[in-house]
Amino acid sequence: MRVFVRLSQHINSKPHFSLHNNPVGSTETTNQARTTLSKMTTNSRQFLLPSILLVLAFMAKPSDAFTGECVCVQAKTIAARWSPDTNNVTYGFILNKGECFKFLSSSYSYTLALQENKGKLIIPRVDLKSMKCPPKQEDTVLRYNALCPSIRSRAEWKARKPKSVTKLRVPVEYFIVHHSEGRNCSTTAGCDKLVKGIQNFHMDTRGWADIAYNFLIGGNGEVYEGRGWTVQGTHTKRYNSKSIGICMLGSFQKYVPTPLAMESLKKMINCSLYKGQIIPNYTLAGHRDLGNTDCPGTALYNVIKKWPHFIKKIMYPIIRNRTEWGARKPKSVTQLKVPVEYFVVHHSATGSCTTTEDCDKLVRSIQSNHMDKRDFVNIGYNFLIGGNGVVYEGRGWSVEGAHTKHYNSKSIGICLLGNFMNEEPTTEAIESLKEMIKCSLNKGQISDNYILVGHRNLGDTECPGSDLYNIIKEWPHFIKS
Ligand SMILES: [Zn+2]
Ligand SMILES: [Zn+2]
Repeated sequence: MRVFVRLSQHINSKPHFSLHNNPVGSTETTNQARTTLSKMTTNSRQFLLPSILLVLAFMAKPSDAFTGECVCVQAKTIAARWSPDTNNVTYGFILNKGECFKFLSSSYSYTLALQENKGKLIIPRVDLKSMKCPPKQEDTVLRYNALCPSIRSRAEWKARKPKSVTKLRVPVEYFIVHHSEGRNCSTTAGCDKLVKGIQNFHMDTRGWADIAYNFLIGGNGEVYEGRGWTVQGTHTKRYNSKSIGICMLGSFQKYVPTPLAMESLKKMINCSLYKGQIIPNYTLAGHRDLGNTDCPGTALYNVIKKWPHFIKKIMYPIIRNRTEWGARKPKSVTQLKVPVEYFVVHHSATGSCTTTEDCDKLVRSIQSNHMDKRDFVNIGYNFLIGGNGVVYEGRGWSVEGAHTKHYNSKSIGICLLGNFMNEEPTTEAIESLKEMIKCSLNKGQISDNYILVGHRNLGDTECPGSDLYNIIKEWPHFIKS
């Protein structure tokens, strides 16, 4: 727990003056240190000597002395940086005249320095005023909470009470952008009405506990508190507990939101970072990246996909379909009800293959074996993976397999082509297997808390071979049963 404040004035490299103050946790010492900061700042105005390096370092431990206090800039701009204590990622922003920076928590590290000019920090007549926060004034005068926009509270737009509340555990990983796919608004009265309408629709028609989103943004740039910072939304299936979801009011398939609205969206991302609501290496995504939807509209999507931290598309392995490998028609089909609980790994206990030609042939022979000798209706597995990493469609995603007795209706069964009792699968095959697990999860084919197993965990068999088994048993969600 520490607060680190540094003011530097730096022309020549030689430090002429420096002061380090390291109080050890006593409030008295911290207060003393703070007084020294004010004094030194005043002094630095008097001695505008080109070779002054002034460093004030406060190691306030574990005091919360600075929490809630402010540095306000009276003259030129200064650069401010902050970073969470736990890592080295740093965020920088510029404070202009009249703006204040508020110390949110002593568990963050803050650095304030003069704005850089031509590679050097020159001596502007910086005046950092006392560290007491000024009373909340017009946003044009003060960015009281640094990068956060003002937010129209639930009380202000007269929200209904939520039926229930689930806490959101922050920081979360995702920042998800939506559109309301309805009318736009450009006045406070108009946006209030729209937001209330959405809340009614979500609570009464959809039967949800509250309006789905954490925040909503109107065409006038006004940010509306939906569920807010601390409550889980219902905006993106499977990602609600891992995300902040923001809805742009309007339909943005063909048109982008107003510049004011886009500015507020950017601010909300920065604000989420600043408040520690999203992790420093957060992922920005459109609803469509994580679910089967057009949301947030193509025009809006095309803008945000150019922003930093935009989601890297999960690269699904290319799947060689039944037509491509020359599959026979199934004798019958039983639908698989997804999501299923188990992801079962098998080996074929046959020879291996590394070329498309050989793998095609091998997969066809396995199908014939299953249909003709074992009298299955089709090849047993949902998918198969060759030594070259190519994934073969067996029964596919939506058809129940015949690979693991008692578990076929509750699982996706994947077979690695080869015998892995005394030999490991190729790296390519293992990579494709991992991708298939990810892919199953993202497609909603397996449940969030799925169980990964080898065939041997569920039946009397050596399958999937000891060498393959020893690899998968180290993976997440693996459960020996
Ligand atoms: Zn959406
Ligand atoms: Zn098996």
